[in-house]
Amino acid sequence: MMLSVNLKYSLREGRAISMARGNLTYWRGNSFYINPTSRCINDCLFCVRHFGEGVFGFNLVLDKDPTVEELVREIEETWKSKFTDIAIVGFGEPLLNLDGTIAAIRKMRELSHTPIRMNTDGQALLLYPSRDVPHELADAGLDRIQISLNAPDSDTYLRLCQPKFGRSAYDSILEFAERCKPLMRVEFSVVDIPGVDIDACRGIAKRMRIEFRVRVFKGPDGALEGILRTLTA
Ligand code: SF4
Repeated sequence: MMLSVNLKYSLREGRAISMARGNLTYWRGNSFYINPTSRCINDCLFCVRHFGEGVFGFNLVLDKDPTVEELVREIEETWKSKFTDIAIVGFGEPLLNLDGTIAAIRKMRELSHTPIRMNTDGQALLLYPSRDVPHELADAGLDRIQISLNAPDSDTYLRLCQPKFGRSAYDSILEFAERCKPLMRVEFSVVDIPGVDIDACRGIAKRMRIEFRVRVFKGPDGALEGILRTLTA
């Protein structure tokens, strides 16, 4: 793999994959995923990164962000026409590598007519105040964006997601979603965590006329108790 020279390899699904340092693409069944970065601007209590180094048997912790060329080359080498689902779902926040993400969407648009979706923490307006990220993503060919809402208010979001942008993060997420709405399909997601008012989150999505999805917590048994203690402390 692109970032894995001089590393150990093992056979998986008939091909050699890196076991040491980060895959830029990964897959399971008919879904093909792209991992533009493993950096993030949040530190969510429920983040899968607290509990492992990847998913589906792939190591997704990158030693550095790939360049546009590295990411595109890796997509070309690993994409297969059998995939019917394309997702930009990094082991971090994909939009931290905005140029890589846009190049990945463009490359996928060249390779396939399959709709392209992306998961994001929705803080692009704070990351890139001088760029029009919703339009850039739409122009590249993104069809659907799932924005992690995760909380019904900024106080809960601060405690649960610990954003580097602090209190300004939550309102910016709502504004980002609003700006994406005319351009692509938008969905809010919330991880089902005790102490988070899911109905209140659903109400926000309904008022904003945005689709809503509840995601299952993927951490180990017992972790939820610690998260709840931190949330309610
Ligand atoms: S925004 Fe996503 S990747 Fe970042 S810490 Fe939260 S769950 Fe993890």
